[in-house]
Amino acid sequence: MDAPFWNKPVETLSRADLAAHQLAHLRSTIVQALKTPFYRERLPKTGIGDPGAIASPGDLRRIPFTTKDDLRRAYPNGLLAVDPEAVVRIHTSSGTTGTPTVIHHTAADIDCWADLAIRSIVATGVTRRDVFQNMMTYGLFTGGLGLHYAAERFGMMVIPAGSGNTKRQIKLMKDFGTTVVHSVPSYLLHFNTVLEQEGVRRADLRLSKAFLGAEPHSENTRRKIEELLHIDGYNSYGLSEMNGPGVAFECVHKTGMHVWEDAYLVEVIDPETLEPVIDGEEGELVFTTLRRQATPLLRYRTRDLARFIPEPCACGRTHRRLDRIKGRTDDMLIINGVNVYPSQIETILMRTAGIGANYLIVLEKQDSLDKVIVKTEVTAERFAGEFHALEELKCSLRSQIKTEILINPAIELHEPGTLPVSEGKAKRVVDQRPEF
Ligand code: AMP
Ligand code: ZN
Repeated sequence: MDAPFWNKPVETLSRADLAAHQLAHLRSTIVQALKTPFYRERLPKTGIGDPGAIASPGDLRRIPFTTKDDLRRAYPNGLLAVDPEAVVRIHTSSGTTGTPTVIHHTAADIDCWADLAIRSIVATGVTRRDVFQNMMTYGLFTGGLGLHYAAERFGMMVIPAGSGNTKRQIKLMKDFGTTVVHSVPSYLLHFNTVLEQEGVRRADLRLSKAFLGAEPHSENTRRKIEELLHIDGYNSYGLSEMNGPGVAFECVHKTGMHVWEDAYLVEVIDPETLEPVIDGEEGELVFTTLRRQATPLLRYRTRDLARFIPEPCACGRTHRRLDRIKGRTDDMLIINGVNVYPSQIETILMRTAGIGANYLIVLEKQDSLDKVIVKTEVTAERFAGEFHALEELKCSLRSQIKTEILINPAIELHEPGTLPVSEGKAKRVVDQRPEF
């Protein structure tokens, strides 16, 4: 398989050169951080009053973590390291978990981000002849503009469709011969349902690839999207605190996401002890920006759980691969004392034949016990079929989920297109248990 590159010398830099580059850029990031009110107050207290305090990569651990709450407290300009006039754009996080945080960008920051994002998409094998339909929300959320700029600068034709309005999406796709889409995976499943309802044949579309990001999704969801739409799906990880899309992306081999280590220093820590985990083990991702001017962030705790894949990738890139994000430390549910990630339930749903596009996990309290209700759409064909087949499906889901999460769930099967769809990140869990 061909391994296309955008910036081969950097993407294949030796590990030793990468480490030297990281150390030099960590020092310049500290210089930059000390220009912000937030770090100027915090760093000297921990003995990091100047970049000379960082002599070796191990010194990184002397730097205190930065959290989302720190970013909120520093809102709006406490983490700004440049003259406000040098800022050309701001973005905020989507606020899935509370008040948004803001990141400022200089023109050079935007250039750097676009470059990383171009590297990312080129790694999937797209060419300038591709037609890119961006189905992510445009605006403060980074999903829209992030890959838009990359695709445009690279030279693809960009259709800035934004999210939602599925019938218009289909029309654009047919009329302009879209070959690549960028979407949250949950929306693409819904999109396929509408395609079927509208009677659009796969042959009417030229679609061949999808960049899937912004929300946790299982390998089975990827496969399902690939099979339904006859395309290749590439996992794309990003977060607004680290610019947005273009942080880590799968290459043509689709075996984990290369994280651009010349721009980000990544640690994986145990979220309880805050100590680094053994290479290849799962933990919380911690990021340090190495090239950003306007908003330098040191040891930012993402709350995302993942692991590095220690083996090198067949494509030749030396930047390590992150495995699929398993979830967040804060989307872990505790159900009757058992830790459950929504992705465990999703994995089962998406590997089961007859299951439709959308699902919802509802938690209730009944007689002081937690109750899990899994509501899932089924395919039109299954819904119109025999009653006993639906009952069998329910039984099978119940027992598979019980085996996985050790809790017996109630299963509700719904007609296609009847569960609520969100245009941005899907809301998969409704927790109706009373708070203590
Ligand atoms: P935001 O800052 O609003 O763009 O949200 C970023 C968050 O979305 C990340 O911290 C992850 O929790 C989640 N996310 C983004 N991309 C992915 C992905 N490919 N897989 C799983 N979660 C993702
Ligand atoms: Zn690769």
